[in-house]
Amino acid sequence: MLKRIDLRGSGRDGAGIDRELLPRAELDVEAALEKVRPICEDVRHRGTAALIEYAERFDGVRIERTRVPAEALQRSLAELDPAVRAALEESIRRARLVHREQRRTDHTVTVVPGGTVTERWVPVERVGLYVPGGNAVYPSSVVMNVVPAQEAGVESLAVASPPQKEHDGLPHPVILAACALLGVTEVHAAGGAQAVAMFAHGTDECRPVQLVTGPGNIWVAAAKRLLKGVIGIDAEAGPTEIAVLADDTADPAHVAADLISQAEHDVLAASVLVTPSTALADAVDAALIEQVAATKHESRVTEALTGRQSGVVLVDDLDHGLAVVDAYAAEHLEIQTADATAVAARVRNAGAIFVGPWAPVSLGDYCAGSNHVLPTGGCACHSSGLSVQSFLRGIHVVDYSRDALAEVTHHVVALAEAEDLPAHGAALKARFDWKVPSST
Ligand code: NAD
Repeated sequence: MLKRIDLRGSGRDGAGIDRELLPRAELDVEAALEKVRPICEDVRHRGTAALIEYAERFDGVRIERTRVPAEALQRSLAELDPAVRAALEESIRRARLVHREQRRTDHTVTVVPGGTVTERWVPVERVGLYVPGGNAVYPSSVVMNVVPAQEAGVESLAVASPPQKEHDGLPHPVILAACALLGVTEVHAAGGAQAVAMFAHGTDECRPVQLVTGPGNIWVAAAKRLLKGVIGIDAEAGPTEIAVLADDTADPAHVAADLISQAEHDVLAASVLVTPSTALADAVDAALIEQVAATKHESRVTEALTGRQSGVVLVDDLDHGLAVVDAYAAEHLEIQTADATAVAARVRNAGAIFVGPWAPVSLGDYCAGSNHVLPTGGCACHSSGLSVQSFLRGIHVVDYSRDALAEVTHHVVALAEAEDLPAHGAALKARFDWKVPSST
């Protein structure tokens, strides 16, 4: 079912694996940018009226306004299935345990007597959190966005999620209930690029934000890329990816189930198995055929698994496999090998790593305590998943006494002159009645 890419015997030079050889969706974000540009401009100029029109066009529902009334939030919570409520509460509890530990404290370094630099961590004042709701609805993404923002101390947060036809144009009730559980009071029925534009430019119902975070499809990713600068963004968290590095100790039924679990998100989702074992590759393929036939979203899963972004990569050995998974830089990486802990310790590039047979990606999607908003498309080689840190800015506070400044002035003057910026040196000299050169 999965196409095979045979890299055995291909060798590895110092530059590593050629990323072009690996399966990856040709996500044409550039083309999507052209499509979302007029949408974002329209929202900038016409505000809520434009959002109402796009809700009708893309979500198939007529809404009167984007802001969800407080009663709808409370009603959704009151009507929430108790089992789902208990699961959400546990997910929130575990996420808080992990994210609370990420909080940074201010730190002062005495550089010289009388000269200090303090790094002060200050939360962004207002943030917009995107919660997807197209093919599937993601109350779990409410938890993953809101918990780190709250732990960072963000004062004002707004959530947006697509309006649902079946729910009178409100976001899905479980999303509303999750917001209510977390104490979020500002929620908007807005999806896709138009929601990101609403956050960036503001409307009569939504004050502009400074930072937009959260996962989404290609339209959401394109709008975030387009509006970066107007707003801050987290890493691009687009269609999901799973890579499994496995040897012949892995259970093929489990590997197949995990590959399907992520393919279920999106026809563009990527499921990749990297293994030195052809026996495992054959057994996983057989298990996939059996399990896909029985899965609820069979056609979406089949399209994702047979797309160019999915496949089995055959490698010489686990060292070769590690080079491949590092080059691929998956959003989610499972290690299902004999000594999974040791192998996982050698991985450099991944959004999150799931170690051994008892830590499937689905656990991380909901209840591991880790964050599920993770970089995709190879961005894991330079970016991290969402965390408390995403919502903080570090500000250097520089405090020098007269003596501490006097002691270093000659160095500043020398560097300023080397850069042909003598006025920089003059700013210090003026404080000590030094003669200012006539050229300044
Ligand atoms: P979504 O909310 O991201 O997108 C739905 C919106 O897309 C709609 O409201 C609509 O406005 C817009 N849209 C649909 N078709 C359009 C078109 N032709 N032109 C312009 N806009 C259009 O929900 P989704 O589609 O279900 O996608 C969710 C994505 O989030 C999936 O790809 C999933 O894999 C991903 N995800 C990623 C992570 C991560 O951390 N990387 C986590 C969770 C989910």
